[in-house]
Amino acid sequence: MYKDKLVMVPGPTMVPEGALLAGSRQVMHHRSPEYGKLFAEVNANLQYVFQTKAPVLTFPAAGTGGLEAAIVNLFSPGDKVLSASVGVFGDRFAAIAACYGLEVVKIPTVWGTAVDPAVIRDYLQKEPQFKAVLVTHNETSTGVVNDLAAIGRVLKQFNVLYIVDAVSSLGGMDLQTDAWGIDVVITASQKALMSPPGLTFISVSERAWQAVAQAKLPRYYWDFAATRKALEKNPPQNPYTPAVTLLAALNEALRMIKAEGLANTFARHRRLANGFRQGVEALGLTLYAAAGSRSDTVTAVTLPEGIKGEQLVKIMSEKYNVAVAGGQESLKGKMIRVGHMGYINEYDIITAITALEYGLNDLGYTVKLGQGVQAAQLAMQD
Ligand code: PLP
Repeated sequence: MYKDKLVMVPGPTMVPEGALLAGSRQVMHHRSPEYGKLFAEVNANLQYVFQTKAPVLTFPAAGTGGLEAAIVNLFSPGDKVLSASVGVFGDRFAAIAACYGLEVVKIPTVWGTAVDPAVIRDYLQKEPQFKAVLVTHNETSTGVVNDLAAIGRVLKQFNVLYIVDAVSSLGGMDLQTDAWGIDVVITASQKALMSPPGLTFISVSERAWQAVAQAKLPRYYWDFAATRKALEKNPPQNPYTPAVTLLAALNEALRMIKAEGLANTFARHRRLANGFRQGVEALGLTLYAAAGSRSDTVTAVTLPEGIKGEQLVKIMSEKYNVAVAGGQESLKGKMIRVGHMGYINEYDIITAITALEYGLNDLGYTVKLGQGVQAAQLAMQD
C-alpha cells in the first residue's frame, strides 16, 4: 500500500511533519549557542506541559529508563515503597524497584479498574515506614486512568513521595504536577508528546531533591544532581551528548501543543476518546476499563468469543492499513488496544473504526458497516 499506515498503537505514535522535518536537519553541536537556545525552549515548554515550576530533566532513553532513573536517584536499598499497580506497566515499575533491593508492597487491585485512593490511605495509616507511593497515571495495558488529583489529596496527609509514571498520559490528559502535589513525574517522547521515541523526561520536586541527596543507590549516567547542574548553566546544557535531533523534533512538537493550548489539547483527546468508545460500543463490543476510569489516550477493547486478538491486529494492519496493538501478558489474544493520542483527529478515529468493522466482518463477527462509524461521528460532532 503506497499510503502511510495509520499508526494507532498506544505508542510510538505518529509524528507531525513539522517535527519530523526539524529532526532531519543537520546535527548541531551540543555545546553551541544555537543548541543552548533550543534546549532552553524545550525546557520551558516541558515545564508547561508538566504543569510544574520544578526542573524537568531529559535523558536519551525509553520511558523504562526514566522509571529506573527515578528509582536509583530517590532510594536506598531496603527502602519501603507502596505500589498501586493496576496492570502491566505498574508491575514493571514495581519490578524495577524490587530489582534494586527496595521492599515493594503491592496493593491487590483488579485489572480494568482504577486504584481506590482510600485503600492507599489505609496502607499508609497502618504502616508509617513507606517512603513513596508508585502510581501509573494511565495504565496502557488496560486503558484505565487513575485519579491522580484524589490520590494527591490523600498523600498530602502523609510524608511520602508521590511518584507517577505518566508515560502514556502526559500531554494528552490533565496532569497538574504542582497543584496535585506530585513529587516525580516520568514520561517519554513517543506518545502524547508527538515525538519520535528515544527521550525520557522527569520532573523532580523540592522534596524529591531532598530524597535524592539522601539516596544511596549507585548511579552515574542517571544521576539527577549532575543533570540538574548542567541544566542550570546559561544556556542550559546536558552532562553527556544529548540526542540533538530528537530534541529538535520534540521542540517543534511542544510548540504545536503550546499553540493549541493544553486545555484544548485535553478537550480534543476527550472528544476523540469518547468518539472511539461510542463507535466500539455501537458494534456490540465491550470496553475493558470500568466506566468512570476510562483513559482518553488508550482504549482497550475486549474481543467477542472466537475472535483472536492477534488475527484482528494482523488483518487491520495488513489489509486495512491501520496499526493497533494486542493485549499484553495475561490479556494476550483477548483484546485490542488502540492509542488515540498526540497527533490525531476525528478522521483518524473514523478510519480506525472503519478498519475495525471490516476486520471483524472478515473474521466472521458480523457488524453492520458504518454503524460504529456513525456513532463515533455523532459523538465527536460539536
Ligand atoms: N509506562 C507506561 C504507562 C507505558 O505505557 C510504557 C510504554 O508503553 C512504559 C512505561 C514504558 O515505556 P518505554 O517503552 O518507552 O520504555
